[in-house]
Amino acid sequence: MRSVSLLGSTGSIGTQAVDVLLGEPDRFRVVALAAQSSTEVLLSQAAVLRPEIVVIGDESLYGVVRDGVPPGTEVLVGIPGLVAAAACADVVLNAVVGFAGLPVTMAALEAGKRLALANKESLIAGAPVVQKARRTPGAEIVPVDSEHCAVHQCLAAVDDLTAVARLLLTASGGPFRGRSPAELQMVTVADALAHPTWSMGPKITIDSSTLMNKGLEVIEAHELFGIPYDRIDIVVHPQSIVHSMVELRDGSTLAQLSNPDMRLPIGYALGWPTRSAIPFGALDWTSPTTLTFEPPDREVFRCIDLAYDAGISGGSAPAWLSAANEIAVEAFLAGRMTWSGIADVVAETLEGWRDEPVEEVESVLAADEEARVRARAVVSRRCRTIQAPRR
Ligand code: NAD
Ligand code: MG
Repeated sequence: MRSVSLLGSTGSIGTQAVDVLLGEPDRFRVVALAAQSSTEVLLSQAAVLRPEIVVIGDESLYGVVRDGVPPGTEVLVGIPGLVAAAACADVVLNAVVGFAGLPVTMAALEAGKRLALANKESLIAGAPVVQKARRTPGAEIVPVDSEHCAVHQCLAAVDDLTAVARLLLTASGGPFRGRSPAELQMVTVADALAHPTWSMGPKITIDSSTLMNKGLEVIEAHELFGIPYDRIDIVVHPQSIVHSMVELRDGSTLAQLSNPDMRLPIGYALGWPTRSAIPFGALDWTSPTTLTFEPPDREVFRCIDLAYDAGISGGSAPAWLSAANEIAVEAFLAGRMTWSGIADVVAETLEGWRDEPVEEVESVLAADEEARVRARAVVSRRCRTIQAPRR
């Protein structure tokens, strides 16, 4: 029986993870749950799963949670709560969204645990320190992100990474595939949130519309598998059935296929190397299926090249990219900025990037903060410009 800390339990990944965990009660026992502010969902999860620890990010909600959990449950708050919860289980599922997931990633790895990683932002922004923590005895990362889970499965057939010619990360292309820049001028938040194949939290859904998600995943793949950037490609595959591919030097291409259902990669990361007995996402091969592949439009989806550039620069550049993107996405979701402004804000913020050594968590936090301050200034300037009356 594996003990599991499910952190970010009330979100899209978190609630799907609860499904997986409830489906195999003989394999997994939940010892900790965490959420930022959704107390109602958190308390109903606690009533069913009976964890030892419940963490609430927003300290003002401590009383609500303390009064609502089953007797004997320990209630913790904020980052110290996340850190404690990340060190107390065999497997830590980091399903927190954004840079806020960094303490979970670091604490799980430093405690020598398996990190089932959905929160890509922590690995991308904190790569130099996360890689150090990953060398702790017992620590390992098993990816939850569907593309990286697919690559992880394909690489199991390869005994040596020198056999790998390239990684091919598939992308659905998002809701704006095939649109021209002119057509994308007026898209709304609702348009961008209407993902064609996946139902996900708002931040990653917007990232999927700009293809920043795929750019972030290129950096994530580089960090997870150590493959150089010039051997990681993006292929648009609108059906989201092939979750990624590994091309080998002998000409073979390996792929993992299933219907888009995050419960499959969640179950894989929690249980690996033992497979789940529940066929989440199994395909029906008796009905005709067409799979198509095309290159991404890197001129319309400028975030792809911004991410490659930041990844190749290394150091704190991916932290700047990810932080600027979080600020830009927040501004877009709040209706303060246009969709195409997201790439502009990230690009303009990164123009101010200077390479600084990233050796400690403190330098990651400082890089993140500096990028946020600059990105907010860019957003404010853009809002003023957009709202200024025309002469
Ligand atoms: P979401 O917005 O639906 O959920 C986020 C969760 O994190 C919520 O439970 C929220 O309460 C919690 N949270 C946020 N800040 C917190 C804090 N400071 N302390 C404690 N909890 C906090 O997001 P999501 O779509 O589930 O995505 C989660 C992560 O998984 C993201 O990094 C995303 O990129 C990644 N991911 C998601 C999907 C998907 O299908 N949703 C797929 C691949 C990767
Ligand atoms: Mg993904």
